Amino acid sequence: MTRPDVGYTNSPNRSGGTPMAPQGIVIHYTAGKYDGAVGWFQNPAAKVSAHFVVARDGRRVQMVPLPDPDSEGPRDGKYKAWHCMGGNSVYFGIEHEFGYTGATGAADWTDEMLDSSAELSAYLCSVYGIPVDRPLDENTRDWFTGLGGHYNVPGNDHTDPGPYFPWDSYLDRVRGYSARMLESPPEGVFAIAGHRTL
Ligand SMILES: [Zn+2]
Repeated sequence: MTRPDVGYTNSPNRSGGTPMAPQGIVIHYTAGKYDGAVGWFQNPAAKVSAHFVVARDGRRVQMVPLPDPDSEGPRDGKYKAWHCMGGNSVYFGIEHEFGYTGATGAADWTDEMLDSSAELSAYLCSVYGIPVDRPLDENTRDWFTGLGGHYNVPGNDHTDPGPYFPWDSYLDRVRGYSARMLESPPEGVFAIAGHRTL
């Protein structure tokens, strides 16, 4: 499996201790421009972060290490990003450049941003055994396994990614990337129950 090509800019806003136990991915929007969000997540005063931030033009960056057994890239088993309160221990967070003046409509979920993000989600689903599924609708706040919005996570009051996030299109893209990744197993060897790769 080829790890998506993504650079790393560290956020100090993360916690150690008990390792994250991944069961899903939370989709967010930044309510601001990409560069501003990346800068904010580098500021200790912000006390927020995400594993990845994706721009409308497809640029993206990783900001918190992934837990083992990520096969490559920045990783450390003990860190959790700070993006969804009590969900931080089980959910990866992907932020998207959306939800500010000039980027609030359905058409502002650009193909470039959706594809760039979907490749990251496909990687996370493949490595950590997360189902490519969205079990809850936007009006249901409950713990889920798979993909969901910030609006789904218990104990949170945020409404992102909002009513226009194209879930069906996004999940199709994730499935497409997943299929391609599984066709190109990694050189290294690592195994997760049910997701053994050679
Ligand atoms: Zn959010």
